Amino acid sequence: MREEKPLLARPMKKLASDLPVIDELTRKMTAAWRKGSQQNGQGSCTLMTCSCKVAVPWAMFLIGEHAEFYTSALCIHSIAYHRDEISQKDLEKVRNFPFEGEDPREGELKKPDGGPWALGWFRRKENSK
Ligand SMILES: [Zn+2]
Repeated sequence: MREEKPLLARPMKKLASDLPVIDELTRKMTAAWRKGSQQNGQGSCTLMTCSCKVAVPWAMFLIGEHAEFYTSALCIHSIAYHRDEISQKDLEKVRNFPFEGEDPREGELKKPDGGPWALGWFRRKENSK
């Protein structure tokens, strides 16, 4: 039976760095993400919010050579903007992906202070309470 392990599946807790780290690890994660598949949560209106306020719809994605890891839509964002917070063990798992690295797009990186992924409406909703 396949064992699904979490990999960068949780929102980060500390502040994001100003600039994303785009190196071999981020590029491998991007490749794994693009090869992955969404398992559930499609159409869900529940949001997962990162410490930097970037929010994504809650959903689980299976990635890895044998889809052995589950992750969230924040995985590329986390490895690029929250590198300090990711354990060496998790970085090692990403390093071991047998994929050719691919450059992440802006929508995949989810820059903390802009873009549709910052979901300004979500903050407005919070403020109107
Ligand atoms: Zn973040």
